[in-house]
Formats: sequence, C-alpha cells, structure tokens
Amino acid sequence: MKTLPSVDVVIVGGGWSGLLMAKEIGSRTALNVVVLERGGPRRTADYAGGMDELDYAVRMRMMQDLSQETVTLRHSAKSRAAPLRQYGSFLPGSGTGGAGEHWNGVVPRFQPDLFELRSQTLAKYGADRMPHDHAMRDWGITYAELEPYYTRADLLVGSSGKAGNLRGQQIDGGNVFEGSRSAEYPNPPLKIPYFSSLFHDAAKSLGYHPYPSPAATLSRAYVNPDGVARGACSFCGYCERFGCMIGAKAQPTNTLLPVIQKLKNISIRNGAWVRRVVHDSSPKEGKVRGVRYVDSTGEEIFQPADLVLLCSWTMSNTKLLLLSGIGRPYDPATGKGTLGSNLTHQILWPGVTAFFEKPLNRFMGSGSAGIIISDLDADVFDHSTLPFLRGGTLSAMSFGHRPIANFGGVPHSVKSRWGSEWKKAAISYYDQTGRIGFAGEHLPYKTNYMDLDATYKDRFGDPLLRLTLDWQDNERRMAEFAQEKGSELARAMGATEVHPSPPLGTYDATQYQSTHVQGGAIMGSSPEDSVVNTYLQHWQIPNLFVVGASSFPQNASANPTLTVLAVAYRAADAIVDRYLKSPAPLA
Ligand SMILES: Cc1cc2nc3c(=O)[nH]c(=O)nc-3n(C[C@H](O)[C@H](O)[C@H](O)COP(=O)(O)OP(=O)(O)OC[C@H]3O[C@@H](n4cnc5c(N)ncnc54)[C@H](O)[C@@H]3O)c2cc1C
Repeated sequence: MKTLPSVDVVIVGGGWSGLLMAKEIGSRTALNVVVLERGGPRRTADYAGGMDELDYAVRMRMMQDLSQETVTLRHSAKSRAAPLRQYGSFLPGSGTGGAGEHWNGVVPRFQPDLFELRSQTLAKYGADRMPHDHAMRDWGITYAELEPYYTRADLLVGSSGKAGNLRGQQIDGGNVFEGSRSAEYPNPPLKIPYFSSLFHDAAKSLGYHPYPSPAATLSRAYVNPDGVARGACSFCGYCERFGCMIGAKAQPTNTLLPVIQKLKNISIRNGAWVRRVVHDSSPKEGKVRGVRYVDSTGEEIFQPADLVLLCSWTMSNTKLLLLSGIGRPYDPATGKGTLGSNLTHQILWPGVTAFFEKPLNRFMGSGSAGIIISDLDADVFDHSTLPFLRGGTLSAMSFGHRPIANFGGVPHSVKSRWGSEWKKAAISYYDQTGRIGFAGEHLPYKTNYMDLDATYKDRFGDPLLRLTLDWQDNERRMAEFAQEKGSELARAMGATEVHPSPPLGTYDATQYQSTHVQGGAIMGSSPEDSVVNTYLQHWQIPNLFVVGASSFPQNASANPTLTVLAVAYRAADAIVDRYLKSPAPLA
C-alpha cells in the first residue's frame, strides 16, 4: 500500500455535502483540502449535447453502478436480505456532484416541530398514541437555530419561491404553515404550468392554502453571494435523472465547483474509492489518522490527514463507519448501540392519477415547478380523530411529460390494453393525464436500521450494507387518508376519471420513490442515543465529522437537501471558527 504525504483535511464524497464543506473550509482557511470522489469528473458542459431519455432516465447514465456497489434489503430481522441488483426505490449518484447533479431541485425547509419531534409529540398526544416501536428523537437543535443556515442555503442555490411566513407574518400565496423566515426567497417563484394551476384553483376552492413549490431552479438570472452566475429555467422538463443543459438548476458542479476550481488549496481526486477510515483503536476517545482508498488503477493508497469528513451520503457514510469499526453498531434485540439506527425513507407516492378531457400542456415543465398544499402536513391539522400521527404534502408537480416515462396510460373506461383503440386513447391521454402526488413523513422505528450483510460482498470483498426496512401502520393509514384527499382535489380540478394508486402495503424496493434516505449516523445531544453531536462531529472521535442526511434522526415529508446544506453550513462554521482554533469536542 502506498502512503501519500499528509494533508490537513480529507473529504470523502464530492456531492452537495462534500463540495460545500470543501468550499467553506478551503475558502476561509489556508488549509490543504483533498476531496476523494469514487466516480468520474463532471461539468455543466457535459450536458450541453442535449437530453436522451433512454440513456439518462431509463438506463440511468448518472447513477451508481450497481455491479460495483449496492445494498441488500429485507423487511424484518427475521427474513434473509437479498441484494438490489436493479435500480429501484432510490437512485444514488456517483461522480463529481453526486446525486445533486440529477436531482429535481425541490427545496422546502422542514417544519419547525420536526426538530423536536419526540418531546412535542409526547407532550401533545401522550405515550399511548405514540406508534408501536417508534424511535422518534429530538435533534438537539431547533428550527430557530438552523434558520440562518437555511437562509444561506437558499442564497447559495438561488431558491425561487414565495415566503408564507416572513418574520412571523403570514403571507397569502406562500406556505402559511412554514416556520418563520428571516428573508424572502432570493428569486420569485417559477412559472406555474397549466396542470398545476388547475390544482391551485381547486385547492383554493376546497379551502386549502396552495403555494408554488420552492425550487433550486432559477426563475430569473441570478448571481449568488459567492459571485456564481446562472441563467433562468427554460422549462424543457429534463431535470430529474439529468444534469441541466443550461445550468438553471443548481447543481454542485455549477454552484460550488466554480468557486473550488479557483482555490489552489483544494483538489478533487476522482476515481478514489474510500474503503476505510483509519483510526487509533481506543473505543472511548479516538483519533482518526486518515483514510484508505483504492484509486482508478486499483492501487491501495493511505492518505493521512488531520481532519476527516465523511460526506458520502447516508448509506456510504454508515457503511464506512461500520467497516472501520467506529462507534457501536445498533442492536435491535437489545436496543443498545447507535450506529445504523433510525433508517428512514419518505413516502413519495403517486397518490392518484387523474384523466381530463382537455389538453394540459404537460410538455412544459421543470423538476421543481408545481403547486403544493401543506394543510395536511406534520401536525398542522387536527389528528384527534385520525388513526395516525403526522402527515405530508399533496402536490401537482409539472416535471415535463417525457415521452418514454409518460406514454401509454389510459383510464379504466378504455377497455383495450393493446391495438388501435388503446393506441388512439394513449395518444390523446398522453397530454390529458396528471398525478396528485403525496410526500409523507416517515417516522423512525426500532425495527428499521442498517448493518453489514453476512452473505453478500462488494467489489473489494467487503460486506454490503444491509437495510432492514418496512412501512408500519402509521404510514399506511397516512397514505390512505392522503389518497382520499387527493381524489377530492382531482375531481375539483375537473378530472373525468380518478384512479387511486394501490395501497402502500409493504416497502417495495422495485418502485422508484425518492432518493431521500436518512439516518445511520444520527445527530443528538447525547452520545447515549446519537452518533454525532449537532455539529456533526463524532462523539468519540473529535477529528471526524459525518455530514449529510445520515445525521437526520427522522425524515420530514419535505425533500431533504436544503436541510442537508443548512446543517453542513452550521458544521462548517463550527469547524472553521472553533474546532480549528482548538481541536477538541465541540460543546
Ligand atoms: C432522481 C433524484 C431526484 C432528487 N430530487 C431531489 C429534490 O427535488 N429535492 C431534494 O431535496 N433532494 C432531491 N434528491 C436528493 C439529493 O440529490 C440528495 O439529498 C443530495 O444529492 C445529497 O447530497 P450528498 O452530497 O449528501 O450525497 P450525494 O449527492 O449522494 O454525494 C455523495 C458522493 O459520495 C461519493 N461516494 C460514496 N461513497 C464513496 C466512497 N466510499 N469513496 C469515495 N466517494 C464516495 C458518491 O459517488 C457521491 O458522489 C434527489 C435525488 C435523486 C437521485
């Protein structure tokens, strides 16, 4: 094994988390920062050749190569896990920019009470109504503490939207249920496509509070506080699973990379696959010495460093800690240990499909264009007679109806599923179909967790990460409730036929839901029930930080990335302003 000269900071992973930490530390200090990214390099110009739906969205050009790395999954500790050999319910990225290159760019904030979920839910509903086997936690920080960092994240990506709660003042037309914002969005909302505008009017007529989706895609030309300029969206509809051709959608390569490339003290090493965090063996108070990785030639390399930041997303962060023997793995039988616990996903579910007798101009769209209601989110509505806690958002998004993904659906009233009758109906319904989607909170349970698989190995012979994960009745009942409300909304929009999706049932790894997977190295205010402190510093190893959604004790209904950026900004401030001056545990 080759040993390289020591560097000040090693960052594992070159996505939103890794490149944000690199930019913050590298631009505010003279430290030598190295980013190790297992995938290849990327830049906006790579996407300029136009969009090929088959290549990018069906064959998943930008995703992690499952023949090199995957996970195993089972529904309970009693069953045997099988490896996911095909893309399914989540689509991890690889290469500079990570999944932030091919994301949609929907950037809501989390509801304030999510950060104190356990204590607030217990206080309001009492122990008897807490779901069986739940593992709800408080985060150790509040929304108010995180708010300035949310604002910085909004400015970084240039969020387009409309505030619904500005310094405590509710504003009609924005999300009136959101936490108080200290500033309006940096940019006005994206244009509202026709289908979404029908939802807006229907929601209003039913007494809801519709608002435009918060978007990391620009509604107008914008220069962020780092001096990075991007242009406005043209609504081509090739966002999710694609890099943006014109750079309107914020991506790590068009937002962070331009700053990083100007800094001589940061380098990105592509093709560097980290296998272990190397540390002193003391289990109580250790010290990381660097990381071991394999480069693109297959050579094993030790990169010594004074400070190590794991920014390789939920699953890889957890796997690297488990493989490196850092922290105590969670044991569901005893409830002891923290590493790998609180695995959550998100209920991102089609809800209902609605068919109309008029064209909807669905070709126009953007990954984050649409209308949302939060009237049934979190705890903002009355749960006293409902058989579940918490909730989610209903929305009519207009992603842009790409032909392969969206052609062929017809209502039940069309009896044929092939031949000329079906073909005629499929052609006309192509632009007359829409979905009312539901994004619901996924609570953490003692039975949902990550550990190392005993059977299946990765390309290096290391155990694969194993997910033990299933929905519980709280999620199933919440989805059923959302479906009823979604059907009412679709009818109020003028849909002539409304088809509910099948019930949520058991966790289905074959259907795409979202790449919003959380937990494994959760944050908290005590090492007894968390892996990192609220600055994302490992409780036992002060020179190790674990950044990303792995730190979320539970998921919101909302998409996670703005919160990932906010907690990363807070960690970066703590590292630059305090840790580097006095390397010690951060109180
Ligand atoms: C199709 C899709 C749509 C999405 N839409 C939205 C949305 O609308 N809103 C939202 O909030 N979020 C969305 N997301 C989620 C969002 O992309 C992620 O939350 C975000 O990218 C997480 O950033 P990250 O840097 O923490 O992780 P990643 O983006 O996953 O980056 C991690 C990086 O680490 C690298 N890595 C992993 N393991 C190793 C290793 N062992 N050694 C070296 N490198 C390693 C990976 O190659 C990767 O580049 C979407 C995701 C997908 C896939």
